[in-house]
Amino acid sequence: MSDEPGDHPATLAAQALGLVDPTTRSIVPPIYPSAPYERAPDGSYPGGHTYTRDQNPTYDQVEALLSRLEGGQGALLFSSGMAAATTVFETLDTGDHVVAPEQMYWTIQRWLEELAGRGRIVLDLVPNGDQAALEAVLRPGRTKIVWVETPANPTCAITDIAATAEAAHAAGARVVVDSTLCTPVLCRPIEHGADLVMHSATKQLNGHADVLAGALITAQRDELWERVTHDRGYRGAVLGPFEAWLLLRGMRTLFLRVPHSATSAQRIAEWLLTHPAVSEVCYPGLPTHPGHTVAARQMSGGFGMLLSFRLRGGAAAAKTAAAGLRLFKNATSLGGVESLVEHRAPVEGPGSRVPDDLLRLSVGIEAVEDLVADLQQALAGR
Ligand code: PLP
Repeated sequence: MSDEPGDHPATLAAQALGLVDPTTRSIVPPIYPSAPYERAPDGSYPGGHTYTRDQNPTYDQVEALLSRLEGGQGALLFSSGMAAATTVFETLDTGDHVVAPEQMYWTIQRWLEELAGRGRIVLDLVPNGDQAALEAVLRPGRTKIVWVETPANPTCAITDIAATAEAAHAAGARVVVDSTLCTPVLCRPIEHGADLVMHSATKQLNGHADVLAGALITAQRDELWERVTHDRGYRGAVLGPFEAWLLLRGMRTLFLRVPHSATSAQRIAEWLLTHPAVSEVCYPGLPTHPGHTVAARQMSGGFGMLLSFRLRGGAAAAKTAAAGLRLFKNATSLGGVESLVEHRAPVEGPGSRVPDDLLRLSVGIEAVEDLVADLQQALAGR
């Protein structure tokens, strides 16, 4: 069935691994809506599929591509990034210890805090990239998961995956990296020692803001992966075949979209740095960013489509600037072809660790001159 197209990741993505439908020879894969799959008279499943809550042929190609791009041994699609993330924690036993960063996607952090509040897990939050703080909280034999998000949404804080993995593994813990902001184009966490990679595929993997999806990729087919697979099948947090098909379509242009957006984000970050209304620009591509050296070492081909900046005029100035942007649409989410802005702290609500004068930008694939001009007019006179 495979017409192997070549080894470059961009080729693998563009041709979706070069798979051609064996019956019709169609280049674009079909969508398999079937929930059940027929048994042979002996009770076996000759097609290799049993029931769509466990497997579906439409997922297979996407999972195989994701696994290949991340350098893993397997991948599973989920109904959302949250479903993928929460499945990892569902594998834990009551009282297991989890370490997560202070700055990370807030819904996952809130959910972890809720789990800890109910006594389900023991949670420590550590400052992103603070190796000494990480090592101080690790409990050998008891810490099961060290969660990493790098760059972190929305502050772009950077964590050294290799150093984290070394310390976590020495304590017997697994490292899970939320690599949503990188995609495998910019970073392959497994090469740096991660055990699992997680994506909100809703974002740049799909890239067109029309699918809600998540993914986990494993470095090894081990007991943890068995638990994850079992949990997805039992809880049924699977992606529908139509969404899986759309995700694969989006991923074919991943290697065009990601570098384009990253180049534009870099240019916008450099421009914002010179603006008098801006007090700080959070983008790991800037040499002034505290995580720049680590990011330059573990990322390649750019520093991502997400950047944030803070306004000297405080929360009120941030609100007004967000409202004044026209091309950047004021909406939540990130990683689509169209650029978005969000005044993040009010969205996260009380307890948010995000400064209230911070605006988050998700940079799409529009002409960067237009995006800079839009920022220029929105910040004029501030
Ligand atoms: N991880 C990151 C970094 C995110 O930005 C998001 C959503 O914004 C998620 C996870 C959750 O993904 P989803 O919205 O697909 O559930």
